[in-house]
Amino acid sequence: MFCCREDPKGVAKTTGEPSWREGFPRGVTRCGRPPAGAESFLSTAGSPSAACSSAAKTGLARSLSSARPALIVHGGAGPVPENERELRQAAVERARDAGWAEIGSGALAAALAAVRLMEDEPLLNAGIGACLNADGVVELDAGVMEGAELRAGGVAGLKDVRHPIDLALEVMRDGRHVLLAGDGASRFAREHGVEMADPSIFITDRKRQELLHGADTVGAVARDSDGHLAVAVSTGGINGKLPGRIGDSPIPGAGIYADDLFGAVCGTGKGEAFIRLGLARLMVVELQHGMSAAVVARGAVALLGKALKASGGVIVIGREGAPEAAFNTAAMPFAVAI
Ligand code: ASP
Repeated sequence: MFCCREDPKGVAKTTGEPSWREGFPRGVTRCGRPPAGAESFLSTAGSPSAACSSAAKTGLARSLSSARPALIVHGGAGPVPENERELRQAAVERARDAGWAEIGSGALAAALAAVRLMEDEPLLNAGIGACLNADGVVELDAGVMEGAELRAGGVAGLKDVRHPIDLALEVMRDGRHVLLAGDGASRFAREHGVEMADPSIFITDRKRQELLHGADTVGAVARDSDGHLAVAVSTGGINGKLPGRIGDSPIPGAGIYADDLFGAVCGTGKGEAFIRLGLARLMVVELQHGMSAAVVARGAVALLGKALKASGGVIVIGREGAPEAAFNTAAMPFAVAI
């Protein structure tokens, strides 16, 4: 995608270089005035309740009558010690299989099943085996979003919840709030019968977990046969983080986003960069504007690197077509089913 960029004097020029940041491919550019009659995507996309009229207008529907199911699962884009590469890939493939076994129950069930399994894999940075914060403690974040009603739930800074993804789901189902953190989140978990755990169970090999470099996250994006989309994510965040730090993963629009009209995405990498760019939402806007999942995935990681010198990876599923992944790190184990 090519677009124009403003120079310091405000004169638009074509850079000739893919410019995802300024990308508004349907003729709306950030340079000068939009073409006459151009409509903001805000007015055409609308809210879930407006989805029917908006769908009628745009020819889109929030769920397709039939769609090709698809699932993509990733195990993080952080540095992987050579001796762990195959093991991590195998863990991600097991998660893909667990998720795919649930696809008949819907996209949400599939994404949740995949992430739940990865929370139990000690080699992945989520749940058991997650990285340690600056106090040597595991603090976990997780998030979930479904594209039919744009419902979302995120939890952060958990020390004693056995499966953070279960709690994110409860927050989403409860519906009063989108994000819960720390002690309040734990109290909510107990009140809703979510399984609790002694914080020590998350540390299986303190030396290894202390030395985990960079960052990682596990995530899954799914599309079911009704055309519904969902994303689930879980993470220990980044190694040595300040106690209380919250990453992008539980935040809709930053680390995750799902909208049945356009697609669903999940990120991994420097959470602060995803938050500052609003990257997950930006990616879905690009899908909305007709860009393919592959172009959006590549554009997102290019933007991470160019705009904020950050590293990471993304997985994407559009309303149609195959899942896509991209990363600007040495590796990101991922597995696909379609
Ligand atoms: N994005 C996660 C965070 O910053 C970590 C990662 O995915 O690598 O919390």
